[in-house]
Amino acid sequence: MDAMTSAVSIQRYTDETFPAFGVNKKQEISRLLFEIVRRDGCPVQAVLPERVQQSCSFRQVKAFLTKRRYPNMPAFQRRGLQRFLKIPEPCPIPDAESKACHFKPKRILVEEPLLADPLAQRLRRMLPGVPIELVVSYKQYCRQQAFSVAEYNRRAEVFFVVREKHQFWQACPCSKGSVSCGYAVLNLGQGCPFDCTYCFMQGYLNSPGIVFPSNINDFFRSLEAHGGPWRIGTGQFSDSLALDHFTEYSRHIIHFMRRHPDWFFEFKTKSDNISLLLEEDSSPNVCVGWSLNPERVVARDEQGTASLEQRLAAAQKCAGRGWRVSFHFDPIVYDEGWEEEYRGVVRRLFEAVPPERMAWISLGCLRMMPRLKQVMESRFPASRILGGELVPGYDGKLRYPLNVRRTIYKSMLNSIREEDEGVPVYLCMEQTEAWEGLPLERRLDRAVFSRRQ
Ligand code: SF4
Repeated sequence: MDAMTSAVSIQRYTDETFPAFGVNKKQEISRLLFEIVRRDGCPVQAVLPERVQQSCSFRQVKAFLTKRRYPNMPAFQRRGLQRFLKIPEPCPIPDAESKACHFKPKRILVEEPLLADPLAQRLRRMLPGVPIELVVSYKQYCRQQAFSVAEYNRRAEVFFVVREKHQFWQACPCSKGSVSCGYAVLNLGQGCPFDCTYCFMQGYLNSPGIVFPSNINDFFRSLEAHGGPWRIGTGQFSDSLALDHFTEYSRHIIHFMRRHPDWFFEFKTKSDNISLLLEEDSSPNVCVGWSLNPERVVARDEQGTASLEQRLAAAQKCAGRGWRVSFHFDPIVYDEGWEEEYRGVVRRLFEAVPPERMAWISLGCLRMMPRLKQVMESRFPASRILGGELVPGYDGKLRYPLNVRRTIYKSMLNSIREEDEGVPVYLCMEQTEAWEGLPLERRLDRAVFSRRQ
């Protein structure tokens, strides 16, 4: 389906079928038709039965379409759904071939005092021919830019080398009302070369490149000044390892963590870029975590990332060299065949990696801020990930209904327990009601790590 033609033709169809409706009403009808056509892959003319097409009642048409769009939702909830958003203009990301360039920027912008800095010099050596330009500061550069989805799609063409002054770490921005796992985020780098359809960072279109802080020792000093003990990791505003060959952050972090045996650090990645890790001796308080999804979801919704098998091969190598490893089934995508597919991934995981090397496994269902939906539709016109019944949840994010999420977690937990009784499993960003009655790890503290050593 050509999404652009489809959006235009859907709006035209609405205009012709319901000429008496006002602009806002037409927008809502078009939006519902757009989502149904996108999910079902059917022509727009096939959605409404003749009797509804001939109806002059907006309420009747909307009620019919809402029911078709959310067939499993109780009627009272369907009635409570808010107004439906405008269909966005498509602005797809570059195709797979041109994505290879994501790992080689076209420009490197360095804050003026940092030109002689080891990180800037390293990028210069590794990327001969890529021009280096000086900027007064990253913040000032951003103030002069115009931002759009198209610019965001090109963000991996620019690397920035900056000096971070304030935002060294933060408590995990866990959703309001969620059970916290006590994690903190080291803000070492911002921006990711991958393109996951669901990535929350798309909500921050004002990121004109991939940002590498050069003053990693200031980050470490800030952690020490706070005291700890920390359970901390990178991978929230970037992928921890995808560009590690450029930054060598992993090397510095591992050496730093050796000085703090009571703290715990986790790298989180969808890459198989582990070469620097394998050059280091493993450290018992550092683990390497992979996000896992069935190959079908990886290929469709995690563009540019390592395949499932490549991730498992990398995890196997790390575990074989004594590293502790962790896994995140996040986001779990609920669509046809999900249960068997995820069960298959769990089996493959335990075939590849001995459970005694696993620090923990987390589970989290697909979720997003509502404002992300239009950006996703614009950047990934062919994606079906929004076809599920995602509705505002306890924290305002679009989520599958609680009963669906509980079914998913129960099934995932059963699959994991069929393979191993002991590996700690927890939920990421979930409300108390989702945890109830499930034997999960409430708090990932030292006692949990010690059990697995
Ligand atoms: S790997 Fe993570 S940070 Fe990178 S695009 Fe995917 S979700 Fe976003």
